[in-house]
Amino acid sequence: MTDDYLGFKRENLAAQCAVFEVGDSGEAAYVIESGCVEVLAGTGDAQRRVAVLAEGAMFGEIALLDHQSRTATVRTLVPTRLVRIDRTHVEELLQRADPVVQYLMRLLLERFRSSSGRDSTASTGITAQSIALPAPPDLHAAAVRTLSLAHDLSNAIDSNQLELYYQPIVTLPQQKLAGYESLVRWRHPSMGLISPAEFVPLAEKTGLIHRIGQWVLHRAVTDWPALSQTLGAAAQEGFVSVNLSAPELCSDAIVDNVRAALTTHNMPAQALRIELTETAVIANMQSVARTLAHLQALGVGIALDDFGTGYAGLDYLQQLPFSTLKIDMSFVMQMHNSQRSYQIIKSALELSRSLQLQSIAEGVEDASTAALLSSMGCGYGQGYYFAKPMPLSAVSSWALAFGSVNSEA
Ligand code: C2E
Ligand code: MG
Ligand code: MG
Repeated sequence: MTDDYLGFKRENLAAQCAVFEVGDSGEAAYVIESGCVEVLAGTGDAQRRVAVLAEGAMFGEIALLDHQSRTATVRTLVPTRLVRIDRTHVEELLQRADPVVQYLMRLLLERFRSSSGRDSTASTGITAQSIALPAPPDLHAAAVRTLSLAHDLSNAIDSNQLELYYQPIVTLPQQKLAGYESLVRWRHPSMGLISPAEFVPLAEKTGLIHRIGQWVLHRAVTDWPALSQTLGAAAQEGFVSVNLSAPELCSDAIVDNVRAALTTHNMPAQALRIELTETAVIANMQSVARTLAHLQALGVGIALDDFGTGYAGLDYLQQLPFSTLKIDMSFVMQMHNSQRSYQIIKSALELSRSLQLQSIAEGVEDASTAALLSSMGCGYGQGYYFAKPMPLSAVSSWALAFGSVNSEA
């Protein structure tokens, strides 16, 4: 009898049931939720009780670390409820953990081995290969990098190491410049340019994301007059978008910060767009709904980023005040060779038409993708085919060259 509990399995056993026996393969550890068990060493007539374990105790945990067979038998003494922790599940969780946690886990394992007087070839079978963790030198380097980046990040704003890049967004099929997405960069003094994909998750964990978000918002709003000048006739409807992450969306301060930034720089609210990812929305539905309602009331546009990656139902699209849907680049990049990606984009475009949202395809890398998206009714494109993200200083000469190429076309 089992049922699932947060990925762990529950087992209800009657009295005098064997949980496992000497020689069984060890695939799981158990925690006693209620009841008690006896632990028996040896087999046949030589079998003897070595322990009785009650509620809260864990047993069989060595199986989480190795692939050895059981060296003891465990039997219930009364009706007992157990939570079963499968080795494969723990390995999966560990692989998703950050490098520092993985590194600590490996250190603890090695300490456990040496304090038990066992080396990697001893009979317990706790070998370096038996748990699916990356090799120690890689792990060590990754953990050290994470720790030092986390440490240095707190300095990055005050030391002017953050830069805001802008990537153009263009209309399809005319290919006229419509606006920009702002994308943060960290120029680390010794490690060079660090991608937001690496440091934004770190900043979210340490809480620094609120200061970084404030810096980005302030920078984008300050740069808006220069950006809007590059848009020519489209400046009236032009925009710059700013990415917000989950902790920012859940903070009460964000609406006040956006309002203050707009007022201080006398920027029209419709020229600012907020981008938030589907995953952030789904994980924090209630607080996101509240924040978005306030942002919409300010007149700010709201784009749903990375659409299609959140594996969620679509009900939330109707409940939240999105103005734009950004189709994730993983589908756009595959649309020529994957029927599935093509169909997902087609459905996303139909959905955005029926909800009267603008649609932007991300990751447009060539002319044929731009043409196909345009023929499918996608209103806007963004990607290396048009331009890579660039510093403000490069924007006006890029726009000039792009505009003159497009007016010749
Ligand atoms: P995103 O918001 O989905 O941004 C699009 C990412 O795709 C950017 O990566 C951009 O450089 C990249 N990209 C655009 N066109 C192409 C293309 O044609 N081909 C390829 N291969 N890539 C393309 P980037 O700048 O590294 O940013 C990664 C993610 O980091 C962003 O994904 C966003 O989620 C996050 N991020 C960036 N800036 C900020 C920020 O200021 N605040 C927050 N909270 N997150 C940010
Ligand atoms: Mg974005
Ligand atoms: Mg995106």
